[in-house]
Amino acid sequence: MGDPSRFGVYGGRFVPETLMAALKELDHAFRTIVPGEKFQAEMQYYLHEYAGRKTPLTFCRNLSRDLGCRVYLKREDLLHSGAHKLNNALGQALLAKMMGKERLIAETGAGQHGVATAIAGAALAMQVDVYMGEEDIRRQALNVARMKMLGARVVPVSSGSCTLKDAINEALRDWVTNVETTHYLIGSVVGPHPFPTLVRDFQTVIGNETRAQVMEKEKKLPDAIVACVGGGSNAIGIFTPFLGEETRLFGAEAGGEGPAGKHGATLCRGRPGILHGTYTYLIQDAFGQVLESHSVSAGLDYPGVGPEHSFLRDAGRVSYHPVTDQEALDAFLYLSRAEGIIPALESAHAVALARHIAPGLAGDDVLVINLSGRGDKDVAQVAELVGDAL
Ligand SMILES: *Cc1c(COP(=O)(O)O)cnc(C)c1O
Repeated sequence: MGDPSRFGVYGGRFVPETLMAALKELDHAFRTIVPGEKFQAEMQYYLHEYAGRKTPLTFCRNLSRDLGCRVYLKREDLLHSGAHKLNNALGQALLAKMMGKERLIAETGAGQHGVATAIAGAALAMQVDVYMGEEDIRRQALNVARMKMLGARVVPVSSGSCTLKDAINEALRDWVTNVETTHYLIGSVVGPHPFPTLVRDFQTVIGNETRAQVMEKEKKLPDAIVACVGGGSNAIGIFTPFLGEETRLFGAEAGGEGPAGKHGATLCRGRPGILHGTYTYLIQDAFGQVLESHSVSAGLDYPGVGPEHSFLRDAGRVSYHPVTDQEALDAFLYLSRAEGIIPALESAHAVALARHIAPGLAGDDVLVINLSGRGDKDVAQVAELVGDAL
């Protein structure tokens, strides 16, 4: 048996001693409570009746004709809240409740994970405090208002660059102090063990549904699956049931301004190091200082990545590619016009990569794109960036 906190050499638990007790308590609860009948029955209610699972797998007639293979979209954009993040927020909130916690804290960059946590907190009647960098609060006014309307408190973070990675540090500090009453609800497959495993397990519902849906419609497994990778939770969620199969798996990273400019392509252009309690690929300078990432889509703007993706990268099981801001913007309009479905800018990265891959597939090959979220939140930004080209 290998070390359950590791994915090959990646992962682990690089945290101060004061956090070890909390992580061990969480790990124990994860292994004992989650498999139990009571948790599973409650989760069934929240995912299906409350949040609207299962999400459709849509065969795209126009995209299939245009790209020359059989293209499906996994519709996480149709989940309550408009993105996949709610799968994890509901799972962790329910686990925390059954552990006897009263309060949830979360970090958020663009505000999407903060909103998902605020929704889960309201549904489960728990207090929610969301740490958010002052710079992000300024940039994401709509999500700040949404969180407040949902009953959450937004706590401004004014350390470091006043963005996501600083908000994570503050949330970790709060957790150490208030661990008796409080659960730290991390938003992606990042951070110290058991978070990368816990969040993956809550997102694997995407892949399990996809597998059954493709089987039913096509009588075979998909030939290729594409997902975007920020922290990596929607990607690992759809990839997991296919890791032992022949399905080709592709991850789209934030290529940002391109080879010479700022980016968020951690796996394609980073090196391993330690951030937020885990050993994984990072965007860093020659001295190991973590650098600011950049992406047109806030959800992919993180200088780290889930440790399991680092392992899958080195193993060659998943192939990761950078998609530039411009390619993502093109794909945003492409999907909107071809199918009448406006994707999140994050998900548009997966659509762009699918357009690259499709020419290498045969006419009856099945290609699944994980549409991690809907694009309403990005409409104003895209209109401004694209301007006259609309
Ligand atoms: C947050 C977000 C992502 C990126 O997060 P992952 O953990 O990599 O999935 C992707 N798509 C949408 C719609 C998001 O909100």
